[in-house]
Amino acid sequence: MANTWIVCEDEQIANLISIAKEIGGNVNVLVAGDAQISGADHVIRVPISANVPVEAYAGAISEILAHDVEEGDVVLCVNSATGRVLAGAIAATLDAPVLTGVKEISAGSATRLRFGGIVKEEVAFSSGVVAVIDGTGEAGSDGANAVDKSVEPYSATVSSVDASEGKKVNLASARRIVAAGRGFAKEEDLDIARDLAQALEAELGCSRPLAEGAGWLDRDAYVGISGQHVSPDIYVAIGISGQIQHTAGMVDSKTVIAINNDDKAVIFEKADYGIVGDLYTVLPELTQALK
Ligand SMILES: Cc1cc2nc3c(=O)[nH]c(=O)nc-3n(C[C@H](O)[C@H](O)[C@H](O)COP(=O)(O)OP(=O)(O)OC[C@H]3O[C@@H](n4cnc5c(N)ncnc54)[C@H](O)[C@@H]3O)c2cc1C
Repeated sequence: MANTWIVCEDEQIANLISIAKEIGGNVNVLVAGDAQISGADHVIRVPISANVPVEAYAGAISEILAHDVEEGDVVLCVNSATGRVLAGAIAATLDAPVLTGVKEISAGSATRLRFGGIVKEEVAFSSGVVAVIDGTGEAGSDGANAVDKSVEPYSATVSSVDASEGKKVNLASARRIVAAGRGFAKEEDLDIARDLAQALEAELGCSRPLAEGAGWLDRDAYVGISGQHVSPDIYVAIGISGQIQHTAGMVDSKTVIAINNDDKAVIFEKADYGIVGDLYTVLPELTQALK
Protein backbone atom coordinates (compact mmCIF):
# COMPACT_ATOMS: atom_id res chain seq x y z
CA MET A 1 0.00 0.00 0.00
CA ALA A 2 1.26 3.48 -0.86
CA ASN A 3 2.36 5.71 1.99
CA THR A 4 2.09 9.46 1.81
CA TRP A 5 4.72 12.10 2.53
CA ILE A 6 3.65 15.68 3.17
CA VAL A 7 6.35 18.36 2.81
CA CYS A 8 5.54 21.68 4.46
CA GLU A 9 6.84 24.70 6.37
CA ASP A 10 4.01 25.18 8.88
CA GLU A 11 0.85 23.66 10.32
CA GLN A 12 -1.40 24.78 7.43
CA ILE A 13 -1.77 21.26 6.03
CA ALA A 14 -5.18 20.05 7.27
CA ASN A 15 -6.30 19.37 3.69
CA LEU A 16 -3.16 17.36 2.95
CA ILE A 17 -3.48 15.26 6.13
CA SER A 18 -7.05 14.31 5.23
CA ILE A 19 -6.04 13.45 1.64
CA ALA A 20 -3.16 11.33 2.97
CA LYS A 21 -5.54 9.45 5.29
CA GLU A 22 -7.85 8.71 2.37
CA ILE A 23 -4.94 7.39 0.29
CA GLY A 24 -4.25 4.94 3.15
CA GLY A 25 -0.88 3.69 4.40
CA ASN A 26 1.28 5.77 6.72
CA VAL A 27 0.93 9.54 6.90
CA ASN A 28 4.45 11.00 7.11
CA VAL A 29 5.27 14.67 7.38
CA LEU A 30 8.58 16.38 6.66
CA VAL A 31 8.39 19.89 8.04
CA ALA A 32 11.06 22.48 7.23
CA GLY A 33 11.29 24.51 10.44
CA ASP A 34 10.01 24.04 13.96
CA ALA A 35 6.24 23.77 13.39
CA GLN A 36 4.51 21.25 15.63
CA ILE A 37 2.35 18.91 13.57
CA SER A 38 -0.34 16.51 14.74
CA GLY A 39 -2.43 13.93 12.92
CA ALA A 40 0.53 12.17 11.27
CA ASP A 41 2.09 8.78 12.00
CA HIS A 42 5.66 10.12 11.71
CA VAL A 43 7.05 13.64 11.58
CA ILE A 44 10.57 14.60 10.52
CA ARG A 45 11.55 18.14 11.43
CA VAL A 46 14.39 19.77 9.51
CA PRO A 47 15.65 22.77 11.52
CA ILE A 48 16.10 25.88 9.39
CA SER A 49 18.88 28.28 10.37
CA ALA A 50 18.08 31.96 10.85
CA ASN A 51 18.26 34.01 7.64
CA VAL A 52 18.59 30.96 5.41
CA PRO A 53 15.75 30.53 2.88
CA VAL A 54 13.95 27.20 3.04
CA GLU A 55 14.67 26.75 -0.68
CA ALA A 56 18.38 26.40 0.19
CA TYR A 57 17.44 23.13 1.91
CA ALA A 58 15.72 21.73 -1.19
CA GLY A 59 18.64 19.42 -2.03
CA ALA A 60 19.05 18.12 1.52
CA ILE A 61 15.29 17.62 1.99
CA SER A 62 15.16 15.72 -1.31
CA GLU A 63 17.98 13.45 -0.10
CA ILE A 64 16.11 12.65 3.13
CA LEU A 65 13.07 11.69 1.10
CA ALA A 66 15.13 9.70 -1.40
CA HIS A 67 16.29 7.60 1.58
CA ASP A 68 12.83 7.12 3.15
CA VAL A 69 10.28 7.24 0.33
CA GLU A 70 9.36 3.83 -1.07
CA GLU A 71 8.32 2.82 -4.56
CA GLY A 72 4.77 4.02 -5.21
CA ASP A 73 4.62 6.52 -2.32
CA VAL A 74 2.82 9.81 -2.91
CA VAL A 75 4.59 13.06 -1.97
CA LEU A 76 2.35 16.08 -1.35
CA CYS A 77 3.89 19.57 -1.39
CA VAL A 78 2.05 22.71 -0.33
CA ASN A 79 0.94 25.01 -3.14
CA SER A 80 3.14 27.98 -2.21
CA ALA A 81 6.18 29.54 -3.86
CA THR A 82 8.51 27.54 -1.58
CA GLY A 83 6.38 24.40 -1.84
CA ARG A 84 6.63 24.45 -5.63
CA VAL A 85 10.43 24.79 -5.47
CA LEU A 86 10.66 21.84 -3.07
CA ALA A 87 8.34 19.79 -5.27
CA GLY A 88 10.58 20.29 -8.29
CA ALA A 89 13.73 19.35 -6.41
CA ILE A 90 12.12 16.30 -4.79
CA ALA A 91 10.66 15.08 -8.08
CA ALA A 92 14.05 15.41 -9.78
CA THR A 93 15.79 13.47 -6.99
CA LEU A 94 13.13 10.73 -6.85
CA ASP A 95 12.91 10.63 -10.64
CA ALA A 96 9.15 10.98 -10.24
CA PRO A 97 6.58 13.02 -12.17
CA VAL A 98 5.50 16.30 -10.60
CA LEU A 99 1.88 17.45 -10.86
CA THR A 100 0.88 21.05 -10.15
CA GLY A 101 -2.61 22.52 -9.65
CA VAL A 102 -3.86 19.28 -8.07
CA LYS A 103 -7.35 19.45 -6.55
CA GLU A 104 -7.88 15.77 -5.72
CA ILE A 105 -5.53 12.82 -5.56
CA SER A 106 -5.76 9.12 -4.71
CA ALA A 107 -3.21 6.29 -4.90
CA GLY A 108 -3.29 6.03 -8.72
CA SER A 109 -4.96 9.12 -10.08
CA ALA A 110 -5.24 12.87 -9.69
CA THR A 111 -7.54 15.65 -10.84
CA ARG A 112 -5.83 18.91 -11.59
CA LEU A 113 -6.80 22.29 -12.95
CA ARG A 114 -4.84 23.77 -15.83
CA PHE A 115 -4.70 27.08 -17.71
CA GLY A 116 -5.96 29.09 -14.77
CA GLY A 117 -8.73 26.68 -13.92
CA ILE A 118 -10.51 26.54 -17.28
CA VAL A 119 -9.40 22.94 -17.96
CA LYS A 120 -9.86 19.99 -15.61
CA GLU A 121 -7.42 17.17 -16.29
CA GLU A 122 -7.49 13.59 -14.99
CA VAL A 123 -4.03 12.03 -14.63
CA ALA A 124 -3.38 8.33 -13.97
CA PHE A 125 -0.04 7.15 -12.57
CA SER A 126 1.26 3.72 -11.71
CA SER A 127 4.39 4.76 -9.80
CA GLY A 128 5.15 7.37 -7.15
CA VAL A 129 4.29 10.98 -7.83
CA VAL A 130 4.98 14.43 -6.38
CA ALA A 131 1.82 16.57 -6.24
CA VAL A 132 1.46 20.28 -5.47
CA ILE A 133 -1.83 20.93 -3.71
CA ASP A 134 -3.42 23.53 -1.40
CA GLY A 135 -2.71 22.85 2.27
CA THR A 136 -5.65 24.90 3.65
CA GLY A 137 -6.37 24.81 7.35
CA GLU A 138 -4.34 24.22 10.47
CA ALA A 139 -3.58 20.58 11.17
CA GLY A 140 -3.24 20.98 14.92
CA SER A 141 0.00 21.10 16.77
CA ASP A 142 0.70 18.46 19.38
CA GLY A 143 4.11 17.75 17.85
CA ALA A 144 3.81 14.02 18.52
CA ASN A 145 6.25 11.54 16.94
CA ALA A 146 8.61 14.26 15.68
CA VAL A 147 12.24 13.43 14.95
CA ASP A 148 14.70 16.26 14.25
CA LYS A 149 17.12 15.79 11.34
CA SER A 150 19.74 18.49 10.93
CA VAL A 151 21.09 18.92 7.42
CA GLU A 152 23.36 21.39 5.64
CA PRO A 153 21.73 23.88 3.26
CA TYR A 154 23.26 25.28 0.11
CA SER A 155 24.99 28.58 0.77
CA ALA A 156 22.33 31.31 0.68
CA THR A 157 21.66 34.01 3.27
CA VAL A 158 18.95 36.65 3.39
CA SER A 159 20.99 39.82 3.79
CA SER A 160 18.14 42.34 4.07
CA VAL A 161 14.37 42.40 4.29
CA ASP A 162 12.22 45.35 3.27
CA ALA A 163 8.73 44.47 4.50
CA SER A 164 5.72 46.64 3.71
CA GLU A 165 4.03 48.11 6.75
CA GLY A 166 0.48 47.01 5.97
CA LYS A 167 -1.37 44.51 8.12
CA LYS A 168 -0.50 40.97 7.06
CA VAL A 169 -3.47 39.09 5.71
CA ASN A 170 -3.92 35.37 5.72
CA LEU A 171 -6.39 34.95 2.90
CA ALA A 172 -5.71 31.25 2.44
CA SER A 173 -7.39 30.42 5.75
CA ALA A 174 -9.97 33.27 5.79
CA ARG A 175 -13.60 32.16 6.01
CA ARG A 176 -14.90 35.45 4.59
CA ILE A 177 -13.20 37.72 2.09
CA VAL A 178 -14.17 41.14 0.75
CA ALA A 179 -12.15 41.69 -2.44
CA ALA A 180 -11.74 45.09 -4.08
CA GLY A 181 -10.96 45.71 -7.75
CA ARG A 182 -10.23 48.52 -10.13
CA GLY A 183 -13.78 49.78 -9.72
CA PHE A 184 -12.36 51.73 -6.77
CA ALA A 185 -11.14 55.06 -8.11
CA LYS A 186 -8.84 56.10 -5.25
CA GLU A 187 -6.87 54.39 -2.52
CA GLU A 188 -8.78 56.15 0.25
CA ASP A 189 -12.04 54.81 -1.21
CA LEU A 190 -10.98 51.38 0.03
CA ASP A 191 -12.20 52.53 3.44
CA ILE A 192 -15.76 51.64 2.42
CA ALA A 193 -14.54 48.13 1.52
CA ARG A 194 -12.80 47.97 4.92
CA ASP A 195 -16.05 49.01 6.62
CA LEU A 196 -17.91 46.21 4.86
CA ALA A 197 -15.14 43.73 5.73
CA GLN A 198 -15.36 44.75 9.37
CA ALA A 199 -19.14 44.37 9.42
CA LEU A 200 -18.80 40.93 7.85
CA GLU A 201 -15.79 39.97 10.00
CA ALA A 202 -13.97 39.35 6.73
CA GLU A 203 -10.39 39.82 5.50
CA LEU A 204 -9.77 42.42 2.81
CA GLY A 205 -8.34 41.12 -0.46
CA CYS A 206 -8.12 42.54 -3.97
CA SER A 207 -7.46 41.94 -7.65
CA ARG A 208 -3.88 42.12 -8.86
CA PRO A 209 -3.85 45.68 -10.23
CA LEU A 210 -4.58 47.08 -6.76
CA ALA A 211 -1.61 45.25 -5.26
CA GLU A 212 0.97 45.05 -8.04
CA GLY A 213 0.14 48.14 -10.06
CA ALA A 214 -1.33 50.67 -7.64
CA GLY A 215 0.36 49.22 -4.55
CA TRP A 216 -2.71 50.09 -2.44
CA LEU A 217 -2.67 46.71 -0.72
CA ASP A 218 0.02 44.20 0.10
CA ARG A 219 1.04 41.65 -2.54
CA ASP A 220 -0.17 38.91 -0.20
CA ALA A 221 -3.66 40.38 -0.55
CA TYR A 222 -4.37 39.71 -4.18
CA VAL A 223 -6.30 36.71 -5.36
CA GLY A 224 -5.78 34.83 -8.59
CA ILE A 225 -3.65 32.61 -10.73
CA SER A 226 -0.46 34.40 -9.72
CA GLY A 227 -1.76 35.45 -6.29
CA GLN A 228 -3.58 33.68 -3.49
CA HIS A 229 -5.81 30.66 -3.99
CA VAL A 230 -8.70 31.02 -1.59
CA SER A 231 -11.73 28.94 -0.64
CA PRO A 232 -13.75 30.97 1.87
CA ASP A 233 -17.40 30.49 2.80
CA ILE A 234 -18.19 33.97 1.45
CA TYR A 235 -16.31 35.92 -1.25
CA VAL A 236 -17.55 39.41 -2.05
CA ALA A 237 -16.06 40.71 -5.32
CA ILE A 238 -16.48 44.47 -5.59
CA GLY A 239 -15.60 46.38 -8.76
CA ILE A 240 -13.84 43.29 -10.13
CA SER A 241 -14.54 42.37 -13.76
CA GLY A 242 -13.93 38.63 -13.32
CA GLN A 243 -11.00 37.96 -15.65
CA ILE A 244 -9.94 34.31 -15.62
CA GLN A 245 -6.63 35.20 -13.98
CA HIS A 246 -8.58 36.49 -10.98
CA THR A 247 -11.38 33.93 -10.81
CA ALA A 248 -8.91 31.01 -10.99
CA GLY A 249 -7.96 31.95 -7.43
CA MET A 250 -11.48 32.17 -5.99
CA VAL A 251 -13.61 29.57 -7.83
CA ASP A 252 -13.56 27.29 -4.78
CA SER A 253 -15.40 29.89 -2.68
CA LYS A 254 -18.67 28.48 -1.33
CA THR A 255 -20.79 31.59 -1.91
CA VAL A 256 -19.78 34.40 -4.24
CA ILE A 257 -21.41 37.83 -4.16
CA ALA A 258 -20.50 40.25 -6.95
CA ILE A 259 -21.06 44.00 -6.96
CA ASN A 260 -20.45 45.71 -10.28
CA ASN A 261 -22.03 48.56 -12.22
CA ASP A 262 -21.74 46.64 -15.49
CA ASP A 263 -24.47 44.02 -15.72
CA LYS A 264 -22.42 42.19 -18.38
CA ALA A 265 -19.31 41.84 -16.20
CA VAL A 266 -18.19 38.19 -16.34
CA ILE A 267 -17.81 38.06 -12.57
CA PHE A 268 -21.59 37.62 -12.45
CA GLU A 269 -21.16 34.23 -14.19
CA LYS A 270 -19.24 33.04 -11.11
CA ALA A 271 -21.58 34.68 -8.61
CA ASP A 272 -24.35 33.14 -6.54
CA TYR A 273 -25.69 36.62 -5.82
CA GLY A 274 -25.13 39.72 -7.91
CA ILE A 275 -25.78 43.38 -7.27
CA VAL A 276 -25.69 45.60 -10.35
CA GLY A 277 -24.91 49.06 -9.08
CA ASP A 278 -22.37 51.71 -8.22
CA LEU A 279 -20.15 50.41 -5.42
CA TYR A 280 -20.04 53.88 -3.90
CA THR A 281 -23.80 53.67 -3.32
CA VAL A 282 -24.15 49.94 -2.66
CA LEU A 283 -21.35 49.46 -0.12
CA PRO A 284 -22.38 52.02 2.50
CA GLU A 285 -25.98 50.75 2.35
CA LEU A 286 -24.89 47.12 2.63
CA THR A 287 -22.58 47.87 5.55
CA GLN A 288 -25.33 49.83 7.30
CA ALA A 289 -27.79 46.97 6.79
CA LEU A 290 -25.29 44.49 8.29
CA LYS A 291 -24.67 46.56 11.41
C1 LIG B 1 0.03 36.52 -16.55
C2 LIG B 1 -1.04 37.28 -15.83
C3 LIG B 1 -1.35 36.92 -14.54
C4 LIG B 1 -2.36 37.60 -13.86
N1 LIG B 1 -2.66 37.21 -12.58
C5 LIG B 1 -3.66 37.82 -11.94
C6 LIG B 1 -4.06 37.41 -10.63
O1 LIG B 1 -3.49 36.50 -10.04
N2 LIG B 1 -5.07 38.07 -10.04
C7 LIG B 1 -5.76 39.10 -10.65
O2 LIG B 1 -6.70 39.66 -10.03
N3 LIG B 1 -5.41 39.49 -11.88
C8 LIG B 1 -4.38 38.91 -12.53
N4 LIG B 1 -4.04 39.33 -13.77
C9 LIG B 1 -4.71 40.53 -14.30
C10 LIG B 1 -6.07 40.20 -14.90
O3 LIG B 1 -5.93 39.78 -16.23
C11 LIG B 1 -6.99 41.43 -14.87
O4 LIG B 1 -6.37 42.49 -15.55
C12 LIG B 1 -7.34 41.88 -13.46
O5 LIG B 1 -7.83 40.81 -12.71
C13 LIG B 1 -8.42 42.96 -13.55
O6 LIG B 1 -8.64 43.49 -12.28
P1 LIG B 1 -10.04 44.16 -11.96
O7 LIG B 1 -11.14 43.20 -12.21
O8 LIG B 1 -9.90 44.75 -10.61
O9 LIG B 1 -10.07 45.39 -12.98
P2 LIG B 1 -10.92 45.63 -14.29
O10 LIG B 1 -10.84 44.49 -15.22
O11 LIG B 1 -10.54 46.97 -14.80
O12 LIG B 1 -12.41 45.68 -13.76
C14 LIG B 1 -12.94 46.71 -12.97
C15 LIG B 1 -14.41 46.43 -12.80
O13 LIG B 1 -14.97 47.41 -11.95
C16 LIG B 1 -16.25 47.76 -12.42
N5 LIG B 1 -16.53 49.10 -11.92
C17 LIG B 1 -15.95 50.28 -12.29
N6 LIG B 1 -16.45 51.29 -11.56
C18 LIG B 1 -17.37 50.75 -10.73
C19 LIG B 1 -18.24 51.28 -9.74
N7 LIG B 1 -18.24 52.59 -9.44
N8 LIG B 1 -19.06 50.44 -9.07
C20 LIG B 1 -19.08 49.11 -9.35
N9 LIG B 1 -18.27 48.55 -10.28
C21 LIG B 1 -17.43 49.36 -10.95
C22 LIG B 1 -16.13 47.68 -13.94
O14 LIG B 1 -17.40 47.49 -14.53
C23 LIG B 1 -15.21 46.48 -14.12
O15 LIG B 1 -15.95 45.29 -14.29
C24 LIG B 1 -3.06 38.67 -14.48
C25 LIG B 1 -2.74 39.01 -15.79
C26 LIG B 1 -1.75 38.34 -16.45
C27 LIG B 1 -1.43 38.73 -17.86
